Amino acid sequence: MKLTVAVDGPAAAGKGTLSRALAAHFGFAYLDTGLLYRAVGAGVLAGGAPIDVARGLDPADLENPALRTQAVADAASRVAVIPDVRQALVDFQRGFARRDGGAVLDGRDIGTVICPDAPVKLFVTARAETRAERRYLELRDSGQPADRAAILADVQARDARDANRATAPLRPAADAVILDTSDLSADAVLAQAIAIVTRALPARD
Ligand code: C5P
Repeated sequence: MKLTVAVDGPAAAGKGTLSRALAAHFGFAYLDTGLLYRAVGAGVLAGGAPIDVARGLDPADLENPALRTQAVADAASRVAVIPDVRQALVDFQRGFARRDGGAVLDGRDIGTVICPDAPVKLFVTARAETRAERRYLELRDSGQPADRAAILADVQARDARDANRATAPLRPAADAVILDTSDLSADAVLAQAIAIVTRALPARD
């Protein structure tokens, strides 16, 4: 059985939480595609050239906990505007999406560019203030320095860069289901998504 679930949306909307839980529920594999761009961003911060880093990426690079910092997130959204960087990451993502047993991929352009034929496309979003507050609590709880106003400014700057870039801008696919998580618990969002994926599963005899 091959079934791709494409989950897109802006930073800190709850895509990762939802995607991980969905994958666990159905026994699908999960790929956080933001980590690919973060790994390229980290390589550039370390002095590499964006395209060389993207072409030389190793799946083991995605395990690095340092990819979770704000500085790397910012570097990721800067390298993500470069068309050759995006192109270098396409095959890996498509190969992952087509694996046997089902796959959930989350990112910005999964439903629009990477897997336009995915039978399930979710666009997970929330108000910028809500997303910034979630990111603030996440950073604070993990013991990292966190400043509310700076985080909101960062979320808004990344939204603008992701939505306005020429290549693969952040937008919902025409056939995506929009899930606004601003006023919903993670469990409520998960229940909606499970119902949508269940309808798309191949019928069993
Ligand atoms: O989702 P995450 O915050 O880890 O993504 C970091 C950055 O990588 C995003 O702001 C975006 O610019 C970029 N990205 C992208 N396409 C994806 C995933 C992430 O452009 N599929």
